[in-house]
Amino acid sequence: MTLCPCRVSSNLSFLSQAIAYSDCCQPYHDSLLDDSSDKLDSIKAETAERLMRTRYSAFVLVKPEYIVKTTVPAQQSLLDVAAIEEWARQTPWAGLEIVRHTPKLGKRHAQVEFKAYFDTPDGQQAHHERSTFVKVKEESNNERWCFLDPTVAMTVSQKQPCICGSGEKFKRCCGGYLP
Ligand code: ZN
Ligand code: ZN
Repeated sequence: MTLCPCRVSSNLSFLSQAIAYSDCCQPYHDSLLDDSSDKLDSIKAETAERLMRTRYSAFVLVKPEYIVKTTVPAQQSLLDVAAIEEWARQTPWAGLEIVRHTPKLGKRHAQVEFKAYFDTPDGQQAHHERSTFVKVKEESNNERWCFLDPTVAMTVSQKQPCICGSGEKFKRCCGGYLP
């Protein structure tokens, strides 16, 4: 059995957390990355925390395409896929800890505070971050959680319609969560 990377954590009891990859993040990865399947039928992460977990596992298993496809569509072409792949490959990932999931932050946002552990010669360290996610409406009017990447420079003015497609002004929507 291959354990899902997102269920490995240095701070929690290992056995209570152990879940097979096939029962955890794999269905999400396979579904979104399979080009032959109808995109609208793909399995969507039910919550921002679920999406966060699958993205962490995608880093560990070096699936940069999954990272791209789960970012807000307006930011996808601005991502450096090669750099994401390089970083994923070179980091000795050691586990994920979800510190706090705030499922409702305004109308369509959510936040997940997490620690992504990695090994260094001086012991384990963690990326401690708070990520923002937004519910994006797709063509079919289906909704899908996407990661809002604060490191991507967007050239959008505060009064323009928001990048997430909500129809609201940027500043009243995702602009409040981007630098
Ligand atoms: Zn998982
Ligand atoms: Zn927005």
